[in-house]
Amino acid sequence: MKTIQMVDLVGQYEKIKPAVDEAILGVMGSAAFIKGPEVKSFQEELQAYLGVKHVIPCANGTDALQIALMALGLEPGDEVITSDFTFAATVEVIGLLRLTPVLIDVERDTFNMDIEALKKAITPNTKAIIPVHIFGQCSNMEGIMEIAKENNIAVVEDTAQAIGSKYTFSDGSVKSAGCIGDIGTTSFFPSKNLGCFGDGGALFTNNSELANRLEAIVNHGMKVRYYHDEIGVNSRLDSIQAAVLRIKLRHLDSYVAARQAAAKYYTDAFADVDGLETPTIGKNSTHVFHQYTLKTKGVDRNSLQTFLSEKKIPAMIYYPVALHNQKAYKRDGVSDADFPVTMDLCDCVISLPMHTELDNEQLEYITNSVKEFFNK
Ligand SMILES: *Cc1c(COP(=O)(O)O)cnc(C)c1O
Repeated sequence: MKTIQMVDLVGQYEKIKPAVDEAILGVMGSAAFIKGPEVKSFQEELQAYLGVKHVIPCANGTDALQIALMALGLEPGDEVITSDFTFAATVEVIGLLRLTPVLIDVERDTFNMDIEALKKAITPNTKAIIPVHIFGQCSNMEGIMEIAKENNIAVVEDTAQAIGSKYTFSDGSVKSAGCIGDIGTTSFFPSKNLGCFGDGGALFTNNSELANRLEAIVNHGMKVRYYHDEIGVNSRLDSIQAAVLRIKLRHLDSYVAARQAAAKYYTDAFADVDGLETPTIGKNSTHVFHQYTLKTKGVDRNSLQTFLSEKKIPAMIYYPVALHNQKAYKRDGVSDADFPVTMDLCDCVISLPMHTELDNEQLEYITNSVKEFFNK
C-alpha cells in the first residue's frame, strides 16, 4: 500500500506530468514570467468555468481577502462580520486594515456561519460580511444575501476551500461558490482543491466597477501606468503558476468527483459507528470536500488521532482554537459563551486524509483502523 498522506500532491502531479512540464517549459522559453499570456488565458478560462464576468488573479488567498476589503472602500472602525471557526487569514486582513472584526458562531451541521448569529451581530456600523465556505460547501448564501441587501452591507465570499462548489437558490438558479456576493476570493495554495506549485490567488466579481477597482489595487493603484489613483499593493499571479493552473483547471471536475467518492466511502463505512458523526451535506450546496471532517462523540478525540498516527494514518484538527480565543484577536466583552457551537467543534472535530489520489486499499485500511479504535 502507498504511504497515506493528508494530501498527495506528488501522486496527482505524476498523472499530468507531461502536460504540466511542457506548460512550465513554455513559460521559461518565452520569459513572459509576469503578466504573460498564460495569466490572461487562465483568467478567461476560470471566468468561463465559474460563469462569472471578472476574475482578477493575485498572489495568494490572503491578499485576495485584503484587496477585496480595500476595494469596498471601508473606513477604520467599520465592522466586518466573519466566522469564529475558520483559518485566521480572514480575520487577519480585517485587523490589518484597522477595521473591526466581529466574529460569530457557526452551524453545527455545516460548520458555516450561522444565520441567526449573523442577524444578531448586525449594527449600524456593519459594512461587510465575509462568509467562509469552510471545508468545501457554501454557507447559507440565500439567507446571507437577504440580510446583506436589507441592511446595505457588502458580501465577500472566502472560497479558498470551496472552489467548484455550486449553490442552488430557492428559485432554482444555480451559482458557483464565490460568484454570489459582491466579491469572491480564493487561494491556489498547493493543497487547495485547485492548487498551483507555489502561492496564488484570485478575486471574482460580476460588478464591472468593482472589477476595475480590484485590477488597479492589485497593481499599485494604477489604472494608467505610473499614475496612482489610490494606494494599492503588488499582488500578482506568476505566469508559471497560471500555466500549471490552466492544466489543473481542466481536471478540476474529476478532482472534485474523486474527493466526493472518497468522502462517500468514509461516510458509508462509518454509518454504524456510534462515536462518530459524519459530515452533513447542506441541502442547497454541493460539497467539494476540501476536508473530510468528523465529529467525535463521547471519546477522546486526541487518543483517536494518536491511535491512527501509530498506524501511519495522519489526521488533523482543523481548527483546534476558536479565533476569538487567539491571542492576536481577543477582544473585551467577547466570551466563550457567545460561541457554544465553535467551542464544541474545536474539541470534537478530526479531519481524515482527503485528496484526489486515495485508492480503495488505503480507504479500506483507514476506515478499518478508525473502526478498530471504536471497537477496542
Ligand atoms: C487557505 C485559506 C486562506 C489563505 O490562502 P493563502 O493562499 O494561503 O493566503 C484563506 N481563507 C481560507 C478559508 C483558507 O483555507
